[in-house]
Amino acid sequence: MHIAVLALQGAFIEHEHMLSRLGVDSFEIRQLRDLDASFDGLIIPGGESTVQGKLLRELGLFEPIKKLIADGLPVYGTCAGLLLLAKNIENDERRYIESMNITAVRNAYGRQLGSFFTEEEFLGVGRIPMTFIRAPYISGVGDGVGILARVDGKIVAAREGRQLVTAFHPELNDDTSVHQYFLDMIKS
Ligand code: GLN
Repeated sequence: MHIAVLALQGAFIEHEHMLSRLGVDSFEIRQLRDLDASFDGLIIPGGESTVQGKLLRELGLFEPIKKLIADGLPVYGTCAGLLLLAKNIENDERRYIESMNITAVRNAYGRQLGSFFTEEEFLGVGRIPMTFIRAPYISGVGDGVGILARVDGKIVAAREGRQLVTAFHPELNDDTSVHQYFLDMIKS
């Protein structure tokens, strides 16, 4: 298995570390020619959705990646990556890849609760650590979207076909189970 990690901005190295701990090869997507490689899945890391969205367009990566996802490439978006994949963002006019049938709220936890840690159930996995950093949550899901985790009633992880999103950052904790979930999703 060979996993691509979008490495334009944000917490991409942490995802590469997670994958290597699981014995999986990864490589970075930084420019258009990096897409020539063959790969089985793509991770879009946390960071700033606005910056990543702008860089994707400037580097000519936006349309090719959007098409790969539309054609069924498995993708996992963390935090800003969730916003990049969302069809709808309640409190932001910007839209990006729009491949996943979810409505997100950006910076949904306000300033006071900008960052926090908790442990909650992740469907089919069990209780896992969850680190939130100026995170979004999902305020609504459309047809075909399965809810995987909630924190205080708010949806923080979901799946639609071969697309997985989490509002939290599993790559910042030791627990590898969400990455394992993504790898299992690719295999299935
Ligand atoms: N607040 C960021 C955004 O709007 C997301 C934060 C993160 O990825 N940790 O893109």
